[in-house]
Parts: sequence; structure tokens; C-alpha cells
Amino acid sequence: MSYVFGPVPSRRLGWSLGVDLVPFKTCSYDCIYCQLGRTTLHTVQRREYVPVAAILQEVETKLKENPTPDYITVSGSGEPTLNAGLGRVIRDLKKLTSLPVAVLTNGSLLYDQNIQEELAAADLVIPSLDAVTVSVFERVNRPCGQVSLEQAIKGLKDFAGGFRGRLWIEIMLVRGFNDGDEEITALTAVLKDLPAEKIQLNTVTRPPVESFARPLEREQMERIAARLGNRTEIVGQFAGKVYGYGNQQDIEREIVALLGRRPCTLTEIAFLTGLHQTEVTKYIGHLVEAGFVQPIYQEKVYYRVLDA
Ligand code: SF4
Repeated sequence: MSYVFGPVPSRRLGWSLGVDLVPFKTCSYDCIYCQLGRTTLHTVQRREYVPVAAILQEVETKLKENPTPDYITVSGSGEPTLNAGLGRVIRDLKKLTSLPVAVLTNGSLLYDQNIQEELAAADLVIPSLDAVTVSVFERVNRPCGQVSLEQAIKGLKDFAGGFRGRLWIEIMLVRGFNDGDEEITALTAVLKDLPAEKIQLNTVTRPPVESFARPLEREQMERIAARLGNRTEIVGQFAGKVYGYGNQQDIEREIVALLGRRPCTLTEIAFLTGLHQTEVTKYIGHLVEAGFVQPIYQEKVYYRVLDA
């Protein structure tokens, strides 16, 4: 399985079967808080980076093997709207299953009418909007040269006006970067008339690519949430149901695959596997000893796949 992962526990979507449409870190941004590492292909060029037919075949196989996830989520290791086959993937997923399809995007290309049309078949779209002033945008998201903030905001507004599915906006807050009064006032003004169902505030909880990308305190998140209005929520801990895997012999492979996508805590791995945390500790201990996985110490201990 190289394009499909999980189901993984998502703090917003419950159990989410992830579909990855681009090679690792192919993105129009290089965000300072990215949990995946530095962007290696910094681009706005759309092409079929990953073949659509192979993706759909993998999803079909995965759905036969695994209990029903809450969402099929198009996201993964970069910006999914860069895949020129995005529309076909969403439409074919909707034919394949009745599960809801969500798309997580950084929103930089939403001005593109083709992308707006391709996303129309999704049940839920979650674009990011971390900054609305150019200097903050450039410091937080480090866009590639062809991305214009003005165009991204206009694209988000156009898309929001026409999209018939559910729309949530995500704001990732980074201490000392986009949490100042002026930026929050400007964000509030942009979001005021945007017809989104929810505004979701997030902060840096997983190891970021830049160690200077630090989280906000809970109280500050709450103050900002209050300023953004009553459709705003702070993204909380995962609270999904737990189920186990049928084939536990493959658990270490599953853990390595999961951690290759994003660092996780023991608790998150335990939710994913349906195992008791103590058992997970054993598997992780073995993987660390064998040199596949390493711990990273932040506010909590995360585990990630050791660089080759
Ligand atoms: S956080 Fe998302 S948008 Fe930002 S660099 Fe990472 S993959 Fe790209």
C-alpha cells in the first residue's frame, strides 16, 4: 500500500482512511509547523503525480480488509490539489463507497476553476488559512514563488460561495508568528462573511519541521476562538471508537507505515491498533532497538521513523 494508509485516528474526523495523491512533501508551501519535514518539491504545477487507477485499486483492497472508517480523507504527504487527477479520484471514490470523502488542502490553488469543479463532489473540504497579511503568510507558510496570498484568499471566497458540501476552515496558530492582535483582527475580517460551517483552531502539537514553531497556550487559543465567533472550535484530542486489527502479525509493519506518515504518541498508536498501550510499548521498544523508529521529546513523547 503506497498511496493509502490507516485508518488513522484523526482529531477531527474520527477514523480516517488516508489517500495520498502526491509524492512525499510535494507542496506549494513549506510551512514552519509541517510535521512531515521540509518540502522537497516546492511547486504549483499540477500533474498526475500518482496514478489514479492505482489509488482506487488500493482503496478498494483496504476497504475489504478493514472495518469501516468514518471518512476517506484525501490528504497525506503534500498538497493533494496538485494532482491533476483529483476530480477523478473523488468522483470514483464516491462510486466505490458510500463513505463520506473529505479533502484537506492548504487552499493555495482554490482560485483555479478546474480545482473548484473537481472538489464539488467531495462531502467535506477543509482548506487552511493561517495568515491574511503577506509578511505573516510568507513567514508561516513559506509559499513557492508563484503563490499569491491575494489570489488564495479570493479563491477561497469564490469556492466557499459555490461549494454545496460542508466547508471547515483550519487555522494553525504558531506562537509569535500569526497570533498577534493585528493578524487576528485581519483574519476575523476576512472570515466574517465566508460561508463556512466551522472555523477550526489548531496549534503545533506534533514535532514541527522548525523547532522555533511553538504552540500557543490553551488560554490564548480560547481568547482567539472567542474573537473569531461562535462557529469556531479548538481542535481537540481524538475521541473515536477503538477497534483491533485482524492480522496482528503485521502490526509492526503497520506502525512503521503510520509513523512514516506522521509522528504519533503511544496513545495514538494504541488507538490505531486497538492494542493496550502496554503492548504497543513492547512493539515500539523493539522497533526502536532495531533502529526503525526514534522517540522525539516535546511536550509529549512522539515516535517517528528513523531517517535511512
Ligand atoms: S503543513 Fe501542509 S501545506 Fe504546509 S508544508 Fe506541510 S503539507 Fe504543505
